Amino acid sequence: MINLSTSKDTIFALATPPGVGAIGVIRVSGTKTFPIINNLFPKKDLINAKTHTLHVGFLEYEHIVLDEVVLSLFKSPHSYTGEDVIEISCHGSVYIQQKVMEALSKSGARIALPGEFTQRAFLNNKMDLAQAESVADIIAANSEAAQQAALKQLRGGFSSELKSLREELIKLAALVELELDFSEEDVEFVDRKDLRILVDKIYFYSNGLLDSFKLGNVIKNGVSVAIIGKPNAGKSTLLNALLNEDRAIVSDIPGTTRDTIEEALNINGVLFRLIDTAGIRSDTADIIESFGVEKSLEKMRTADIIVYLFDASVETFETINSKVQELKNEHLHFILVANKIDLLRDTTIISELKKSAEVISISANKKVDIDKVKNELFHQTVHGELKFENTIVTNARHQSALNKVVESLMDIKEGMDHNISGDLLAPDIRKALHFLGEITGDVEVDRDILGTIFSKFCIGK
Ligand code: GDP
Repeated sequence: MINLSTSKDTIFALATPPGVGAIGVIRVSGTKTFPIINNLFPKKDLINAKTHTLHVGFLEYEHIVLDEVVLSLFKSPHSYTGEDVIEISCHGSVYIQQKVMEALSKSGARIALPGEFTQRAFLNNKMDLAQAESVADIIAANSEAAQQAALKQLRGGFSSELKSLREELIKLAALVELELDFSEEDVEFVDRKDLRILVDKIYFYSNGLLDSFKLGNVIKNGVSVAIIGKPNAGKSTLLNALLNEDRAIVSDIPGTTRDTIEEALNINGVLFRLIDTAGIRSDTADIIESFGVEKSLEKMRTADIIVYLFDASVETFETINSKVQELKNEHLHFILVANKIDLLRDTTIISELKKSAEVISISANKKVDIDKVKNELFHQTVHGELKFENTIVTNARHQSALNKVVESLMDIKEGMDHNISGDLLAPDIRKALHFLGEITGDVEVDRDILGTIFSKFCIGK
């Protein structure tokens, strides 16, 4: 097992997706990068070439030409990893890529593990831990909101603010610790007012970040939406109308949507995952279908938002109203949608319902007012405008560390309210400092945690 955090090997990996492409890029990083590739590239003396230069020529191994390539040179510390790096752009044939990697391997480099390049960047102080994590988020981003949040974090995000708050706290903590040496003399080197102001400041900032996580989480993972309603209410038709294409099966026979289907929908840059659920009916004898019904109920409870759809041309006010009360009782987020208004002669049901809940009236198959459903989904999620310039926490690890920061700060505040002495405050201050530092990697982060963070990266990053 290679110890990632201490390995000094020279590593390589394909940086472009595997398979055939116009160009394949193989990245090499480590102390032996230049000697190894210099041997494979007889045309030029790479050892003495300048950093940030490009070189065209033939790559050879044991006098056999492998390909005509372009080399991009980055000399330590001016590279992504902070080490000597060369990127080999070769022709994008799988065979050539393999041959080049084979030559590298035979020359003393080894294939990189997932995230190893970024981990080296972190260990060489090219970026802090939160920034390193945002690299994986950028690669995984599947909506504008997710990409913007990750990019903001890569450029520093809340790291710099947390770091400077932590440094201020370190200064005061050092003085509090000093009081311990003079505990018999009852001196206070730290003005308790200053400490209180700082603790409150960090508390306020950390809580703000925690609040943003709710939105951050949906931005990163998408918002799950369950469309529920009786068979034939028009759920599949609505799903198709939302997606604007025919993916789910639409039919006239009640209960034909057997399983749950997930489709992605992008509304104003936020990703929604739509789950089309089988009609919720309890009187069905069909086993496959009741399995679907079970799944629907389960999905309904775990969904972030429920779209409750009903056929306004057949339902009565009483049945829908009792359903609304049921959803309210379960404290579920829901949007009430009346479908098939094209068939509706009498609109009393809608006006009656409007007294107890917001109703959106649509016609799914005539595509009338589908945008209203989309707008409502967006507004229920974002509550107002989505501002990309706001700092948003999207990472569960950061959320968990922030929670612990807030807990320790609360203990400090409580201690101060009771005028406890420095020696009793010190452990909580240390705790707060530790968890603040865990976010940016300013304290030693558990090796297992590091391993987990970087193992989620793809190979080559
Ligand atoms: P599901 O069982 O809830 O998924 O319902 P479907 O989407 O399969 O729709 C059931 C039937 O209602 C189909 O024949 C649809 O064409 C029809 N339908 C769906 N929406 C509307 C609508 O807005 N107006 C009318 N007139 N028919 C609709």
